[in-house]
Amino acid sequence: MSKPIYIYNTLSRKKELFQPINPPFVGLYVCGPTVYGDGHLGHARPAITFDVLFRLLKHYDFKVRYVRNITDVGHLEHDADEGEDKIAKKARLEQLEPMEVVQFYTERYHKNMEDLNVLSPSIEPRASGHIIEQLKMIDQIMDNGFAYESNGSIYFDVEAYNKKHHYGKLSGRNIDDLLNTTRQLDGQEEKRNSFDFALWKKANPEHIMRWPSKYSDGFPGWHMECSAMSTKYLGQEFDIHGGGMDLQFPHHECEIAQSTAAHGSESVKYWMHNNMITINGQKMGKSLGNFITLNEFFEGSHKLLDQAYNPMTVRFFILQAHYRSTVDFSNEALQAAEKGLSRLLSAYETLQKIKPSEQSDVDVKTLNNKCYEAINDDLNTPIVIAHLFEGVKMINTLSDGKAQINTDDLAILQSTFKTFIFEILGLKAPENDIQNDLTDQLMRILIDARQEAKDKKDWATADAIRDKLSALGVQLKDGKNGVEWSI
Ligand code: ZN
Repeated sequence: MSKPIYIYNTLSRKKELFQPINPPFVGLYVCGPTVYGDGHLGHARPAITFDVLFRLLKHYDFKVRYVRNITDVGHLEHDADEGEDKIAKKARLEQLEPMEVVQFYTERYHKNMEDLNVLSPSIEPRASGHIIEQLKMIDQIMDNGFAYESNGSIYFDVEAYNKKHHYGKLSGRNIDDLLNTTRQLDGQEEKRNSFDFALWKKANPEHIMRWPSKYSDGFPGWHMECSAMSTKYLGQEFDIHGGGMDLQFPHHECEIAQSTAAHGSESVKYWMHNNMITINGQKMGKSLGNFITLNEFFEGSHKLLDQAYNPMTVRFFILQAHYRSTVDFSNEALQAAEKGLSRLLSAYETLQKIKPSEQSDVDVKTLNNKCYEAINDDLNTPIVIAHLFEGVKMINTLSDGKAQINTDDLAILQSTFKTFIFEILGLKAPENDIQNDLTDQLMRILIDARQEAKDKKDWATADAIRDKLSALGVQLKDGKNGVEWSI
């Protein structure tokens, strides 16, 4: 039931029909977190955006190999390739083995992703486990004349590359802009040009994370890992590369240059970038005091938060905006999302209880088509959600007996809700609701069994059920809707 999917390709700056290179296989690479990143809210957006894409492709029966890396060879900042890396610094300060730091953050990230109902990728490679592949690619770039050695470090020669290819094509920059805007950093004197970037850095004596190579004892530049690992697992040419907009430059620009310099051709067919998250209209930042971790959201333990927010509220809120728009977090907006999600999920419950009639007064086929059209239009989740709320109105009208639905249409409406809410948008009922529902259903079984015993005048069994429940603190009493229970 594959339908044409259109995705916005950052490289061509337009929506394109998605045509995999080698259908039904799809290679998807997404830049994962840098493990020192404190599990903050910003991690949720690319994870959820590309989770929806992953789910949609699987829904259409594509065989997706989804690779999402973990950056565990630290780097100073996203736009720098110098200085002591953060993992090493934390390890030194806390007297830990760097891999202990990596393990701690990786586990926390996985827990956060599980809470957000983000599916695990097919492969989650770590930069530190792919040093050999990175060095091999550096050798290829050197052999092709697009890199040079300086004091044991290897730098990408942007000027040489730019004579044959366009450096800056993804982010819409050219080399002259870069001359004026590149920041001066330590080790600058080693480079021919300020915009050259490190492929391999010779490690200072105090640098803990280091590997031997023919160039020096050192470590790879940050951009190398994604080029090397995407090539290893998805091949020299693959379908989709995603990540946050903040990674377009320099990270993804450098990836394009590295792959082209090593292999002679570009590796990625579609580049996709999600926009950023703001908090109360401001960019997130440690210095602004609005740097909120996902755990703080889930526990309500940050001073800017009025309450704890269920991970599904956070997920639903993020999906209420298109991934290429910014999302602004505030208590009011999250509380509105919480109410919206609960309306959607309770309509789904109501839908299960609706009985079909002979005829239909509702147009469920159009609703179903509109949901597919929206999701196929560059993952337009806010429009999908708007259509689902039209469905909520429909369900309430049916439930009130003001309209009728036949068996076929009821099945379409149920499958539309199930497919979009759970399978594609990846939402789920909060864990507590599921537990409570189950407990209630189990209690119904016991209450019915006791009633059957009473009907058969089997007083011993009826009393035994009541007494055993009473011993657990559960009271049964007759109410207007039959026997009710309370703890
Ligand atoms: Zn990357």
